[in-house]
Amino acid sequence: MTLLSLEFFPPKTPEGALKLVAVRNELKVLQPAFCSVTFGAGGSTQDGTLQTVRAMLAEGIDAAPHLSCVGASSDSVADLLAQYDAAGVKRIVALRGDLPSGWGGGSAMGEFRYASDLVRFIRERTGRRFHLEVAAYPETHPQAKSPQADLEAFVTKIRAGADSAITQMFFNADAYFRFVDDARKLGVEVPVVPGIMPITNSAGLLRFADNCGTEIPRWIRLRLLALGEDKAAIEAFGLDVVSDLCRRLLEGGAPGLHLYTMNQAAPSLTLCRRLGI
Ligand code: FAD
Repeated sequence: MTLLSLEFFPPKTPEGALKLVAVRNELKVLQPAFCSVTFGAGGSTQDGTLQTVRAMLAEGIDAAPHLSCVGASSDSVADLLAQYDAAGVKRIVALRGDLPSGWGGGSAMGEFRYASDLVRFIRERTGRRFHLEVAAYPETHPQAKSPQADLEAFVTKIRAGADSAITQMFFNADAYFRFVDDARKLGVEVPVVPGIMPITNSAGLLRFADNCGTEIPRWIRLRLLALGEDKAAIEAFGLDVVSDLCRRLLEGGAPGLHLYTMNQAAPSLTLCRRLGI
């Protein structure tokens, strides 16, 4: 059975929260191992993350908040960990988070510089209470000095105590396999689960990919652009591309799939149906 996890972002309005309950209900059929909830992306607050996580836990879902440490103090992180523990959280996605634009470095951004500092801190303060996920970048994090430096930074996060990793979205299976091979050679044994973005919208995907350093292969980019505003054609093409990618990943040994749902049920359901999950 394919290990599946799903990612959501915290809704900003009460209507959004109701809609997300309906989306979660539809997605229950996929029996996800856990569902994660982002923090900070798109201006969401840690409160929004906590509320969404609480709602999921109450429904019996293993809910994992994303926790980013940029700008945080050790006291604020310790408080948050206590709140998550009291709420029944068992798994956390530990991240640095995105730096505000124009930040030139230095210590003004808080007590944690890298995600590895956060992982180390959580382990020191809470032992093995939480399962810790971290981010991985098969195509290299956009701010990394070099692919090798980024790989070493990833290894540092794992050695600091992370249990598993979820990758940034990508459309090039070879980049994933190479990254995992290289990490294994450096002694990393934890699962590295591919983060999968269903394709439903060209403009949004191309913009997001540019921001997070994901390469959209030229043939995919050109085909998407040629489809213009034809949503049905984009979805059909996207489904072919992403299901082929997932099949290759799973056949090549990927330990599961982490789906970026974008708070929608249909794209993930259609993809999983196509994959026979
Ligand atoms: P780090 O692992 O700290 O890496 C950041 C950069 O620093 C990299 O370039 C790395 O090479 C470098 N680096 C790390 N350690 C060292 C070191 N010791 N020396 C020198 N350089 C080093 N963002 C959000 O705001 N909210 C979210 O909820 C969110 N969820 C995400 C979920 C997933 C699965 C992924 C893949 C990303 C997510 N992001 C989210 C984006 C993430 O916050 C950004 O990519 C961020 O810029 C880096 O976070 P990180 O945890 O990977 O950082």
